[in-house]
Amino acid sequence: MSNADKNKLTLDPLELLELRKKYEELQLRVTRFSVIEQELIHARNRLDREVMIYRHLQDFNSMALSVNSETGYAQLVAESMIEIFEVEVAFVCIDIPNTGDAACRHIEGYALSEEQKFKLQLYCMQLFTDLPPGTLRSFTARESDKIRAILPLQQVVAIQVTDPQLNITVTLLGGITEKGSMFYEPIGKDREAPFIVFSQHVLGYQSNRSKTQTIREQYRILEQEQKRIVSIAENFLDFDTNPDKNIQKIVDLSSHLMNGIGSVYEKIENDLLYTSAGLEESGFTEKEAGENICFRLTNQSGRDIVCQQITEEETANYLSAWIRRFTGKTLLSAILRIDKKPIGTLAVILDASIPVNDNIFQLIRILSAALTVEERRKNALKALSESEEKYRMIFEGTPNGIIVADPEIQRLQYVNKSACNLFGYTEEEFLSKSLEDLHPPEAVEMVISRFMDMAAGKISIALNIPCINKDHQVFYADIYTNKISFGGRTMLAGFFTDVTRQRQDQQAILKTNIELKKINAELDNFVYSVSHDLRSPLLAILGLVQLINLNQESPVLVNKYIHMISASATRMDDTIKEILEYSRNARLEIRNDEIHFEPLIREIYNDVKHITTDEVRVDLQIRQTTPFYSDLYRINTLFKNIISNAVKYRKKREEASYIRIDVLTDNRQALIRFEDNGEGVEKAHQDRIFDMFYRASNSAPGTGLGLYICKEILNNIDGTIAVESVPGEGTVFTVVINNKKNTTHDKVSAD
Ligand code: ADP
Repeated sequence: MSNADKNKLTLDPLELLELRKKYEELQLRVTRFSVIEQELIHARNRLDREVMIYRHLQDFNSMALSVNSETGYAQLVAESMIEIFEVEVAFVCIDIPNTGDAACRHIEGYALSEEQKFKLQLYCMQLFTDLPPGTLRSFTARESDKIRAILPLQQVVAIQVTDPQLNITVTLLGGITEKGSMFYEPIGKDREAPFIVFSQHVLGYQSNRSKTQTIREQYRILEQEQKRIVSIAENFLDFDTNPDKNIQKIVDLSSHLMNGIGSVYEKIENDLLYTSAGLEESGFTEKEAGENICFRLTNQSGRDIVCQQITEEETANYLSAWIRRFTGKTLLSAILRIDKKPIGTLAVILDASIPVNDNIFQLIRILSAALTVEERRKNALKALSESEEKYRMIFEGTPNGIIVADPEIQRLQYVNKSACNLFGYTEEEFLSKSLEDLHPPEAVEMVISRFMDMAAGKISIALNIPCINKDHQVFYADIYTNKISFGGRTMLAGFFTDVTRQRQDQQAILKTNIELKKINAELDNFVYSVSHDLRSPLLAILGLVQLINLNQESPVLVNKYIHMISASATRMDDTIKEILEYSRNARLEIRNDEIHFEPLIREIYNDVKHITTDEVRVDLQIRQTTPFYSDLYRINTLFKNIISNAVKYRKKREEASYIRIDVLTDNRQALIRFEDNGEGVEKAHQDRIFDMFYRASNSAPGTGLGLYICKEILNNIDGTIAVESVPGEGTVFTVVINNKKNTTHDKVSAD
């Protein structure tokens, strides 16, 4: 065999057949591999896309957390749809009917009005009617499809998912327009599964958002509640001492705490009305008397706390326009009672939409109780201040000085105005004084002992107690005491009446009484003596006249009787003259004459020496350096009486009688000594010879008026008289008279 032959492969047909079979098998495998390869490429592409989609989803998730508003979230969802699912137009509608807000709608990739967006929402609702939630709709929209009237979409993919618990519905709709189909890949199955996942994500986030919002809302409400509770506490803590202010505060608080439109406090007794700030803002400020609508409505219900709707009929009857604002509102009110008697209502006007729950009932109960407490307090304060006022008026209004002292510590606790006036201290000064300061030192011991007796309840009256005022002047007071209870301690209240004036008056009356008694006795004596002294010469005259009648024939006897009649008449005249002198002294004004003693005494002596034929010598010595002034007429009467007495009561028929008159004057006074050697005055009579009608001797005729007149004259011209006498030896009268003119002169020169 040749090499060619040798190389030439000779295959038997069987082998060939086998080979061909293997070749065909190989060929089939190659074909299969390329299909698998193709499939692998597809799968890889799909996986790539899915990875991308999930990556986008992750981005969306992280962004979704940070979006705050509903619209922001809807926008993010729409933008993500375009990005992830490569659609041309994306529409998102989030509907949460519970919140009362309108659904949130957003469209990207196409401009739509709000109305059209709403129509699109309605279209979507129809699209999913009767389909189980979460069903995906993906379709090609025909010319006649309703969506074409809103949006010119050719391809549509849409899904609606719901959270039944929170009642949230999220609708997503993506699409590609006819024009867009040239640039966008048609929506295939590969995008449908992630779209379903995406919609669940969107709903999940929305649910979380809603839950967070609910939590936030709850938190906000809690915060508000807390603020409200703090405000109640603060308001109650901040309560004033003045109940009126607290009442106003409670009324304000009532409306504030219940979110009311306002609150009204109607007091039945005097139609007082407090309205809260809320009401004032609403213009409910005036109040017509008797228009107690809240009280009337509450009272007629028969319950103490009422919640009712105010109808138009109820407000129509009232004159005040503001009451009509109550129409249609809720009236939540409570009747307030003191001792079971209704005193008014606390009412809160609420908007009809506000639900009235147990808390609010509890609140009005508490507030009305607080209001009643304040009303009670107000009544108590009023009663207290009235009784305080009453006692204050008695305490301050009385003319008696009232001093309240604590007997245990012997300190003054209270003094009234009259006591301050009486003692001349201010209240403050007074309260710092002790018993010792209020009475003269010599009386303190007695006063303290009386005070202790009073405190022990042994005595309750002390009369004529000497007291001493701020100016150290003594006055007298009658003190009546009473035990009183002051701040739990027993005190002694002393009521002082100033009796100084009364005492002075009493003393003056007593003095006048003594004087009057004396004058009365003098008058008695006067009448008796005058009638006796005038009657006896008159009787003598009558007797002598009878004797004349009987002895008419004897001129000698008649002459003698006529002489005797004349003597009696002279005696009568003397008596009358002396009485006249007395009355003159009492009556005439005191004059101021310069007295020249020598001629005056000489003249008097000349007048009186005729009393007797006996010789009575006069020794006159005058020592005068300055002029002397007094009442000439009275001095004349004074000297005449003394000198005539010396002549009258001389020792008859014994040694030679004399009168020594010694006058010594200076610019202050005159001292005149009258000395005689007459019969003298018995010691027993010496004190009385100056009394009216007192006579100590019958050795000469007289009335007993002379020396009395002398004493009265000296009283008038500011002088004195004294007597010294030795019976049987003689008498000395010493007279001192004030120099009247000179006293004035002295004063002038002293000035
Ligand atoms: P009458 O001289 O009218 O009795 P008087 O009042 O003048 O009243 O005097 C009162 C009394 O004082 C006299 O009665 C007399 O007893 C006494 N008497 C007054 N002067 C003298 C005197 N100089 N000597 C003695 N007795 C006197």
